[in-house]
Amino acid sequence: MAAYDIHTHDYDVVVVGAGGAGLRATLGMAEQGLRTACVTKVFPTRSHTVAAQGGIAASLSNMGPDNWQWHMYDTVKGSDWLGDTDAMEYLAREAPKAVYELEHYGVPFSRTEEGKIYQRPFGGHTTEFGEGPPVQRTCAAADRTGHAILHTLYGQSLKNNAEFFIEYFALDLIITDGACTGVVCWKLDDGTIHVFNAKMVVLATGGYGRAYFSATSAHTCTGDGGGMVARAGLPLQDMEFVQFHPTGIYGSGCLITEGARGEGGYLTNSEGERFMERYAPTYKDLASRDVVSRCITIEIREGRGVGPDKDHMYLNLMHLPPEALAERLPGISESAKIFAGVDVTKQPIPILPTVHYNMGGIPTNYWGEVLNPTADNPDAIFPGLMAVGEAGCASVHGANRLGSNSLIDLVVFGRAAAIRAGQVIDRESHVPATNQAQVDKALARFDALRNANGTTPTADLRLQMQRTMQADAAVFRTDKTLAEGAEKMTAIAAKLDDLKVTDRGLIWNTDLMETLELTNLMPNALATIVAAEARKESRGAHAHEDWPERDDANWRKHSLAWVDGNAVKLDYRPVHLDPLTTEADGGIDLKKIAPKKRVY
Ligand SMILES: Cc1cc2nc3c(=O)[nH]c(=O)nc-3n(C[C@H](O)[C@H](O)[C@H](O)COP(=O)(O)OP(=O)(O)OC[C@H]3O[C@@H](n4cnc5c(N)ncnc54)[C@H](O)[C@@H]3O)c2cc1C
Repeated sequence: MAAYDIHTHDYDVVVVGAGGAGLRATLGMAEQGLRTACVTKVFPTRSHTVAAQGGIAASLSNMGPDNWQWHMYDTVKGSDWLGDTDAMEYLAREAPKAVYELEHYGVPFSRTEEGKIYQRPFGGHTTEFGEGPPVQRTCAAADRTGHAILHTLYGQSLKNNAEFFIEYFALDLIITDGACTGVVCWKLDDGTIHVFNAKMVVLATGGYGRAYFSATSAHTCTGDGGGMVARAGLPLQDMEFVQFHPTGIYGSGCLITEGARGEGGYLTNSEGERFMERYAPTYKDLASRDVVSRCITIEIREGRGVGPDKDHMYLNLMHLPPEALAERLPGISESAKIFAGVDVTKQPIPILPTVHYNMGGIPTNYWGEVLNPTADNPDAIFPGLMAVGEAGCASVHGANRLGSNSLIDLVVFGRAAAIRAGQVIDRESHVPATNQAQVDKALARFDALRNANGTTPTADLRLQMQRTMQADAAVFRTDKTLAEGAEKMTAIAAKLDDLKVTDRGLIWNTDLMETLELTNLMPNALATIVAAEARKESRGAHAHEDWPERDDANWRKHSLAWVDGNAVKLDYRPVHLDPLTTEADGGIDLKKIAPKKRVY
């Protein structure tokens, strides 16, 4: 192996990732005086969170009656009863506090006439435990909410003396005696290797949308955290649940926020019919995402798609006042112009369901502590490791995430992880010493990939993976497509041993970086399709045509997938059914959230 130029750093906490989750965790850790490093492969404000448009859910009641229990109910129902009750309660209860904190940190939210934070309706967010009209719960900074949050949190983290390591690529975790004690990184601009020893490592590496061919997520969303965790022998949870957003721009996959429908936009088919009225009579275009995506897919299958190939649908905004579009949806008006050549004040936007979010991820409790479930203890904690944001699975989104519930997840659980770290980290103790054997192991893998001299270029293998996932782990799934897809993916993953990397350099080697990312995407993709094949029911985003009903008796459980090379081992852990507070103490009446059929 080549001799690498290695530098060592000691910190209380190392956060990997500088999206909304990573920055909120970093800020919270630094505020408490913990020595905190934040490592990120892209500049913080270029993380995918910057692209979040629509907004962040919290029951502030600025636009009408609302409360945390209604928000919790909607989240439980949105999750199709797969979310953990304690985590969902924590999310809904803490959400208003977390949003006011953002406001005080300086996020420039849009305002109502009276100067309160503006809130818009979003799919699946309702009143009266699903019995009342849609609620305006989604706090927005025009249609650039993620941008506003990310810039504010980065500024605040710097102010609190968090130290940033920008354009450092985390390669692998350091595991010592059953605990995480650090992470090994590659500095992209000079080729040096950096070993971060820490009392706590927080993975905030985002989702793995790029395992699919068409995704709204950035090219950087490659599930690196999941890859590192899988290589450390820990499981991934509920990976079969992949959200398709109903309105990706046809052709490019670029997102048109659900806020567009929240502001009054609606979908039509080739007959000009507002078809959502037929499928979801109450909430229509604001039914939850999995429902709307399936309805679009059914309309296309039944021959009512628009365009020459009848293979997409229209989103109409033409009836909205141009001033409202300019004020509330300026970003998507621009995206529609650039990516579809459409003037939204005059023409409908061509759209198609596109991969948007990963409900599954690294299993954690509601403090962000990573779980290492065993037969005796399904909630056992893996010391020294946390996961937050889209990389993690707390699990609040269960089988389907509601729009605007991810941004709130980032800040609520980023904040929770910081609070927890403040409690469990012993400030007086020494930072763990470098575990040289683990560093050598990470570098041996890195070196082998840098010198990979097989026959399959990285881009070719990535395309094979993306096409297979797009075709076989799609909006609708069958026993046949899933079985064939799992078999194909197993063969595709085996080809990681036959990769060809052409650039052997260490400086700005994008060929090597994309290869490392592919080795992370692959275990995520494999876990997704294998867990999907095993789940013989339909729930949330997992719409199985051979098993069209939800089966709570057999399948109300989280799936766990251990990925080793191209082999996947599955097991399950129970869903948390107990809330944090009893009804007598002001908690939710459990009868309100008892499982029932999910209709909108
Ligand atoms: C187009 C779009 C619009 C959306 N709109 C909304 C919305 O309006 N409301 C809502 O609630 N949700 C929305 N979502 C979902 C939400 O934005 C994401 O789930 C969320 O931003 C993910 O944040 P994160 O902090 O977990 O990760 P990201 O923002 O993806 O950040 C990941 C971070 O990890 C770092 N990283 C990754 N791998 C490595 C590595 N190997 N080494 C070092 N660093 C690494 C990256 O550099 C980056 O800083 C949207 C998503 C998309 C794609």
